[in-house]
Amino acid sequence: METPRLPRGGETVLGGPFRASPGGKGANQAVAAARLRAHVVMIARVGADENGTSLRRSLTAEGVGLDAVSTDPAEATGVALITVAAGSTDGKGRGENTIVVAPGANSFLSPTDIDAARPVIANADVLLLQLESPLASVARAASIAKDQGVTVILNASPAAKIGHELGGLLDVVIVNEHEAATLLGEPCVTVADDPGTHEELCALVQRVGVPTVVITLGQRGAWMMHERASKLIAAYPVLAIDTVGAGDAFAGTFAARWAEHQVGGGVDASAVHDAACWACAAGALATTSRGALPSMPTRDRILKLLKSGPGY
Ligand code: ADP
Repeated sequence: METPRLPRGGETVLGGPFRASPGGKGANQAVAAARLRAHVVMIARVGADENGTSLRRSLTAEGVGLDAVSTDPAEATGVALITVAAGSTDGKGRGENTIVVAPGANSFLSPTDIDAARPVIANADVLLLQLESPLASVARAASIAKDQGVTVILNASPAAKIGHELGGLLDVVIVNEHEAATLLGEPCVTVADDPGTHEELCALVQRVGVPTVVITLGQRGAWMMHERASKLIAAYPVLAIDTVGAGDAFAGTFAARWAEHQVGGGVDASAVHDAACWACAAGALATTSRGALPSMPTRDRILKLLKSGPGY
């Protein structure tokens, strides 16, 4: 739902129009990777309802494999209610959003479902995880991947605290500033907009046991720390109209590009930097159109934006 501005608590504002589109962090990220031309198989759970059928249809049309997507006879397919601020004349708050998720069937994606998908994980180059699925199932998937030598990337969103047990299974964590603070068990950390603070925050996240940390910074780009090296990836300038899905475009693209490097000979510091640049370009492009899953950019659009930027 579009709104002239985000309502305060207890306030009603007139907005619209209302649009329904397929989404969910996992589905968006799967499509982002598939549009990069990665071979993607999704592990998830949907309800036996119209939303589940339409989500399956959308993912199939994108070439995402659904063999490990199960149907829950008793629960509804997950949905999210999203408000998007149209922005004011001075451009403040443009495209900002609030989201409430009802995970529905996703809450019942169990470690047993993950065990059944073991061959899917074992065959992958990269396992990309996010936290709209239950933490115990995410941890099981990470543990299977680690055993099989598969790279594990966690987009720790929605925000949650991560202990060393899960942290030690991860190769990469992708978070925004708020999620980074929550991951560390800080309920509310105000992050000053200076490189020293971002570097410090990355280093703190690394201490959970993760060698590569990416903190997404919205229109400021992303801060990346790989082993001891740390740097800002500047945002690609675009006219943002709806930031929904930017983080998912970032995560899906980062994972797919990482897999390309891994298959092509190995992931070194410059490959990680390259994956983060592609991800920043994808995140920027996702803000230029409305909706979640439909706004994931294609490989060609990402390449075009990358070539337009400095230093690529
Ligand atoms: P999340 O929605 O998960 O908080 P961000 O808002 O940080 O994620 O967006 C993810 C990435 O998308 C950013 O790191 C950045 O590269 C890109 N991005 C987001 N908003 C903009 C914007 N207004 N202009 C350019 N790039 C953007």
